[in-house]
Amino acid sequence: MQRRTFLGLPGAALALAGCERPQAITGGFTGINDRRGHALRDLRQSPEPTVTRRTQIVVAGAGVAGLAAARALRLRGMEDFVVMELEDGAGGNARGGQVGGIACPLGAHYLPVPGDDAHEVQALLEELGLRQRIAGRWHYAEQHLVHSPQERLFFHGTWQDGLLPVDGVGPATLEQYRRFSKRVHALSQAGRFTIPASRANFTAEHAALDAQTADQWLRSEGFDDPQLLWYLDYSCRDDYGAGLEMVSAWACVHYFASRHGFHMPGEHEEADEDAGTLTWPEGNGWLTKRLAAPLGDRLRTGHSVLRIAEEKHGVAVDTLDHNDGTVTRWQAEQCIIALPLFIAARVVQSPPALLVETAKRLAYAPWLVANLHISSPLQDHEGAAPSWDNVVYGETGGGLGYVDARHQSLDPTPGPTVLTYYRAPGYTPEVRQDLLRQPWPHWRDAVMSALSVPHPDLAERLTRMDITRYGHAMAIPTPGTQQHLHGKLRELGSTGVRSGRLHFAHADWSGYSIFEEAFTRGHLAGLAV
Ligand SMILES: Cc1cc2nc3c(=O)[nH]c(=O)nc-3n(C[C@H](O)[C@H](O)[C@H](O)COP(=O)(O)OP(=O)(O)OC[C@H]3O[C@@H](n4cnc5c(N)ncnc54)[C@H](O)[C@@H]3O)c2cc1C
Repeated sequence: MQRRTFLGLPGAALALAGCERPQAITGGFTGINDRRGHALRDLRQSPEPTVTRRTQIVVAGAGVAGLAAARALRLRGMEDFVVMELEDGAGGNARGGQVGGIACPLGAHYLPVPGDDAHEVQALLEELGLRQRIAGRWHYAEQHLVHSPQERLFFHGTWQDGLLPVDGVGPATLEQYRRFSKRVHALSQAGRFTIPASRANFTAEHAALDAQTADQWLRSEGFDDPQLLWYLDYSCRDDYGAGLEMVSAWACVHYFASRHGFHMPGEHEEADEDAGTLTWPEGNGWLTKRLAAPLGDRLRTGHSVLRIAEEKHGVAVDTLDHNDGTVTRWQAEQCIIALPLFIAARVVQSPPALLVETAKRLAYAPWLVANLHISSPLQDHEGAAPSWDNVVYGETGGGLGYVDARHQSLDPTPGPTVLTYYRAPGYTPEVRQDLLRQPWPHWRDAVMSALSVPHPDLAERLTRMDITRYGHAMAIPTPGTQQHLHGKLRELGSTGVRSGRLHFAHADWSGYSIFEEAFTRGHLAGLAV
């Protein structure tokens, strides 16, 4: 480890880390090929096709939505299609990787047990053997439900159970927790909050929440407790990549009301048979790997879609093979465009107004994911035991804590593991440029500095850190986004988004990004072809 890094550690970390000699830390950037993505900014430079091929359907993008679309085609017996993916692996934001032979997520890492509105996702989970009806009740595969202890918070120097700050908070804080819990409950009674979001009627109450930022709404409701505001801000950044000042009040309420509500300390949701979270060492890469497996050579990774042009009798899709530089023109009957909307709006020739207007509305959050290989368990502060999700209260820089890849392991022997640390650093262009421009040692030091607060011996045990940077990870549900989607795209809920021979599928069409939204959008597009 470089001396510069060592000196960059906070004082307490420095003192403790000095007990043993820190080891060399290897690593680098991984997962995202930003050069391939950025080459799409100026398509005038891209070569003309030299080969023409035919297929019935081209699916552009092999994230969750593209893979779900391909599955829907297969289930309908439509086998003549290709799926084009820019990266060298399928899965998009939900890919898995490994560090030092230990599987870990590169992005998305969990899927809450889906409710009945997400029946397409329920059906997938049944197909994959994760959901089973036994004696009239639905059960989920125990080994993939997050094991206890699930979550802990590093708060005032010790670890406490759960993520809502509780230890030592005063009656005024508890009172605001109680009032917020009631408010969320009342709002969810007044109008449903569903996942997928488009399955609920968009009521006047929804519209009023969607018209303002979460910050504005909370202030107008008299919520000003620092602990409550930290927790709500953390929750929004964790799901949407942006905090209370940026997301709409609809998004803040939706986070709780669409799932299990806002729980007061001591109130447990485990009693609810639909509660629970599915996870795997490689995160949602477990799911995308299984979605991709049946595609065989119809899945073309390392292939960028350059142009999509709707013609009178079909669709022409130009793709660049990054292995040999060949550009191929695919003549298809229809095309499913499972790309982020800012990319779709570039590659679709004469894009329909629906796409242009929606793409213009969306702001994107960048993310950083660091996978830290640890040679042996970290020393711990007092309090709650190491959990699946471990969060530091008030961490600056957008840190959201880490999950442990070995948490679901049934082997109790302590040993090496991988910690996956998440950071949503902000959404300004400067933040995005910084993420791209700063070299790996900069981010290594930033992550070490953040995690050395709860784990002062980190430097002694860290052997490798692989960092994945997402410049445009997900659409932020800013004020007005849901109004736009519900107003313009009433058909979203049942039939998917379509313009002539072009079908659109991506979590962006929901205005925020989670597995259930991406999967449902893809599934509906596959059905609509
Ligand atoms: C760090 C991070 C953590 C997350 N954690 C969770 C989580 O725990 N649970 C959860 O539910 N959700 C999580 N999400 C949200 C996640 O985005 C969704 O769950 C889901 O994976 C989105 O899928 P998608 O298909 O809509 O989009 P994407 O994943 O964006 O897929 C689009 C695909 O298109 C490809 N592509 C782009 N341009 C081209 C081109 N020109 N040609 C060909 N291919 C192209 C991309 O490479 C990508 O594979 C997380 C997201 C991030 C970034």
